[in-house]
Amino acid sequence: MPENRHLLILGGTGEAAALAHAAQARFGETLSITTSLAGRTAYPAPLTGAVRVGGFGGATGLGAYLRAHRVDILIDATHPFAATMSHHARLAAEAAGVPRLMLIRPPWVRQAGDHWIGVPDLVAAAATAAALGRRIFLTVGGGDLAPFARFRDRYFVIRLVDPPETPLPFAAYDIVVGRGPFALADETRLIAEHAIDLLVCKASGGAATAAKLVAAREAGLPIVMVDRPAPEAGDSVASVGAALDWLAVRLAGDATAARGMIDRDGGAS
Ligand code: NAP
Repeated sequence: MPENRHLLILGGTGEAAALAHAAQARFGETLSITTSLAGRTAYPAPLTGAVRVGGFGGATGLGAYLRAHRVDILIDATHPFAATMSHHARLAAEAAGVPRLMLIRPPWVRQAGDHWIGVPDLVAAAATAAALGRRIFLTVGGGDLAPFARFRDRYFVIRLVDPPETPLPFAAYDIVVGRGPFALADETRLIAEHAIDLLVCKASGGAATAAKLVAAREAGLPIVMVDRPAPEAGDSVASVGAALDWLAVRLAGDATAARGMIDRDGGAS
C-alpha cells in the first residue's frame, strides 16, 4: 500500500467522526485524514486526524483545495440535507479526477402506529405544522427556523445544538439545547413537560435522533417530516463499515497501480 494517501472527509455528522476514527484505526499511518467542517457549531466534537473549518468557496474552491492539498480520495459524509455541499463535492471531484464516495445514513422506516406527514420542504412543513398543531416541537436545526416564525399564535419548543446568541423572532417559544444521541426517556419527558402536540423534523435517518420518533408514536403525536433531497449521482454506502471496505479497495488499487509503475521503471517487483 502506498504511504500517506490523503483522505478528505466532508463531515459535520456523527458518521463522519466515526469514519475518521475507524479509518485511522484500520489503515494507520498509510492514510492521512482530514475532516472538513462547515463551522456551523461553536464546539464540534473531537475528531481523529486533521480538521479544517469553513466553506471552500463553491465547487471551484473545493477543486482547488483537492489539488493544493493532494487529496487522493474524497468521502462525502455530510448530512443528507447538506445538498449544496454534496453537489459541489461531485462537481469538484469529477473535475479533479478524485474518487468520491458518499456515506449516506439509511432513512427511517415508518412503523405501525406512526402518523407521519411527509412534506417537500420547510415552507410546507411550517404551514402543515401550524395547521395541525398548537404546541410544536421543532427539530429542524438552527438554520431552517425562519418559515416557522410567522405563526405568531403557535408555541414552539426549538431544539438547537448551540444556544442562540440573540433572541429568536418567534412569538412564543422555549429553547432546548442538546446534541444527539437522545434517549427515549428524555424525549418522552420533553414531550410531556411541554405538552407538545406535534413534532417537526427532517427525514434525516440514523439512530442518534430516532428516539423522538418512538416518543411521538407512543404519545400518539403526528410528525411533519421534511423529505430528503435527492442524493447526488455516484458511489454510495449506508454504513461506516461499508465505507471502510470501499476505501480498502481504493487503497489496494492504488498500491497495485504503484507497483505497476515501479515494475515499468525497472524497480523491484
Ligand atoms: P449545505 O447547505 O449543503 O452547504 C452550504 C455551504 O456550506 C456549502 O456550499 C459550503 O460552502 C459549506 N459547507 C457545508 N458543509 C461543509 C463542510 N463539511 N465543510 C466545509 N464547508 C461546508 O450545508 P448545510 O446543510 O448548511 O450543512 C452544513 C454542515 O452541517 C455540513 O457539514 C453538514 O454535514 C452539517 N449538518 C447539516 C444538517 C442539516 O440539516 N442540513 C444537520 C446536521 C449537520 P462553500 O460553498 O463555501 O464551500
